[in-house]
Amino acid sequence: MIIEIIQVGQLGANCYILSGDQGGPGVVIDPGGEPDEILATAKRRNIEIVKILDTHGHWDHVDANAALAEATGADILVSQEDARMLTDPILNLSVVVAAQERTQEVKHFLNDGDIVKFGDLTIKAIHTPGHTPGSMSFLVEDNLFSGDLIFQGSVGRTDLPGGNGSALYQSIREKIMTLPDDVVIYPGHGPSTTVGGERSNNPYREYWTSE
Ligand SMILES: [Zn+2]
Repeated sequence: MIIEIIQVGQLGANCYILSGDQGGPGVVIDPGGEPDEILATAKRRNIEIVKILDTHGHWDHVDANAALAEATGADILVSQEDARMLTDPILNLSVVVAAQERTQEVKHFLNDGDIVKFGDLTIKAIHTPGHTPGSMSFLVEDNLFSGDLIFQGSVGRTDLPGGNGSALYQSIREKIMTLPDDVVIYPGHGPSTTVGGERSNNPYREYWTSE
């Protein structure tokens, strides 16, 4: 499996391009900006982008949605709870940077447990609310794309509109810490880590271990 990581936009959010080993049908997770670089990287790896998935509706993860959808014809997939954020500059925080709203209409919503296929690979969508009401994590084989839920040595902010600290820790406890230790976590910002590493070392772990 190919996992290309590109840091995009003013906040350097992680955008991921996934496909099988030889390229072919692939997906983009969290196109937070720089659509030309995303497209060039996909072309270089012989990847045809067939789906665009947003872990959540914040501007720094979705800003290139429309440009990529237009260039590739790929559908944008996001949870229904966060889809309304895409066209609301206050909810998606683009008002903070005066970014122009560029997100296209979303035709298909993601629900907990949905399976998205591309090539020989499948993505399982896991509803992990807390950072936003509709935050999703995406499991592909032993790789988890967690958006702004959990990071190496940290967890997502819950002080933004729609954030909920108890929901975030419940998501980590019930949806993430139930995965095997060797599952690799690819967060929305910063370096990758593992479930086992965060289970042992994350300084916030007492908040999800105590109910
Ligand atoms: Zn966010």
